[in-house]
Amino acid sequence: MKNEKAEEIFRNFLKEEKNRITPERFEVMEYALGYDGHFGADELFIKMKNSKSRVSRATVYNTLELLVQCNLLSKRNFGDNISRYESNFKRQQHDHLICVECGKIIEFTDARLTGIPESICKDLNFDLDSYSFNIFARCRNKKACKKYRNEKN
Ligand SMILES: [Zn+2]
Ligand SMILES: [Zn+2]
Repeated sequence: MKNEKAEEIFRNFLKEEKNRITPERFEVMEYALGYDGHFGADELFIKMKNSKSRVSRATVYNTLELLVQCNLLSKRNFGDNISRYESNFKRQQHDHLICVECGKIIEFTDARLTGIPESICKDLNFDLDSYSFNIFARCRNKKACKKYRNEKN
């Protein structure tokens, strides 16, 4: 499935920023927006390689950064020093809860948080660019936690 609207956003951004418009960059965009969940640059690179893509690792890395700059992707850090990305395109704003034992990531939205970053910025005389709200916790279900950790590796 082609994301024509996303393509247009990315193309315009590349033009404005005087970045080269290459088919490889759009190929990375398609894979990144089609990725289900959160991913590291290497994970995406391996996935593309396994699908016979010939895009280089360097292109994957720098294209992901460009996609963050034009807001098609969000860059997240879940406390383990690995940058992870996820699609913003056609997705609702959400926050994350991360299990520090097994690494499971739960997405949630809570109406009580709505407007808080904006209002803090307003009080401090800033314009909000983005924010991240992560909760670090431990699964109560120890069996499920252990199982997830073992399956993941
Ligand atoms: Zn997420
Ligand atoms: Zn857990």
